[in-house]
Amino acid sequence: MLEIIETLDERKSSICCNSKDGNKGKMKCDMDSVEGSVSQRACVYCGARVVLNPITDAYHIVHGPIGCAAYTWDIRGSLSSNEEIYRNSFSTDLREQDVIFGGADKLTAAIDEIVEKHSPKLIFVYSTCVVGVIGDDIEAVTKNAREKYNIQVIPVYSSGFAGNKSAGYKAACNALLRLMESAPDSKKAIDIRDSNRFYINYLGDFNLAAEIWILTGYLKKIGIDVVAKITGDSSYEELLKAPTAELNVVQCAGSMTYLAKQMQEKYNIPFIKISFFGIEDTAYSIMDIARASGREEIIQNAKAFISEEINKVKGHLDYYRSKKEVKKAAINVGDENNPI
Ligand code: SF4
Repeated sequence: MLEIIETLDERKSSICCNSKDGNKGKMKCDMDSVEGSVSQRACVYCGARVVLNPITDAYHIVHGPIGCAAYTWDIRGSLSSNEEIYRNSFSTDLREQDVIFGGADKLTAAIDEIVEKHSPKLIFVYSTCVVGVIGDDIEAVTKNAREKYNIQVIPVYSSGFAGNKSAGYKAACNALLRLMESAPDSKKAIDIRDSNRFYINYLGDFNLAAEIWILTGYLKKIGIDVVAKITGDSSYEELLKAPTAELNVVQCAGSMTYLAKQMQEKYNIPFIKISFFGIEDTAYSIMDIARASGREEIIQNAKAFISEEINKVKGHLDYYRSKKEVKKAAINVGDENNPI
């Protein structure tokens, strides 16, 4: 018999039912794990890793014990249209002796080895719990490496005990800001662009099930180009161009609102929150982005596109509705290889 499980009081504010009263968009998503429950709301480092991992040509050095490196591409999966190196973890494998004498030399050696073997353009160095405790100076080590190799080696301040997973999102956003700031002026200048088109960054989608490819395709058809996908299927070069966008659209508000606000302040890029979950939300969001462009042609394109696409799926929806009416269903977002 199916057991009905009551929602924990501490978690009620983390559940939103659109069809009922629900929290009406005020869903909480930055809370600590509840003691005794097994969840994926892991540590600060894990939060930073899930945000930065989808950058397909980045190298990720986990400065900590080997176990931390278990948080890798596999925990969420994200699809790439190009490089595959992001699927790997590199670890400094800190041991007892390093905890006593410090692990900075090991980190330097790890960076040297990766540069020698792989010629990277971008390396992220994550601090973990133990690094926060022993106080290795990852700022100094990464600065030396930047100067020595003339590549981007960016520290991610994600030691444990500094908060929950959401503190890791913020640490990742700060690392992304450092990366954008490193762009030479030529990259920050607006490229020669078609003034009839609208240029946006798409924040908070990690391309777990190829959704970024579908959505960027939709937007392209109506006259909107995505400058940088942050961070699903993105790359070093793409992220450097992010400051040139005209608008930031934020899908995952929990992880990316901070970055959007910072980019508004630093680069004068406004942002809107959107949702591409479901047909209605997708249609509203496409219209919101089109209206934000201020270009009448794009608005009209969006209206026509939405009506055309809804007509295409209507028959399918009617079929499934007729089968599923009065039944409850759970939907797993992601494909069978990449469930989330
Ligand atoms: S950073 Fe800390 S909590 Fe996170 S995996 Fe490593 S040891 Fe565990």
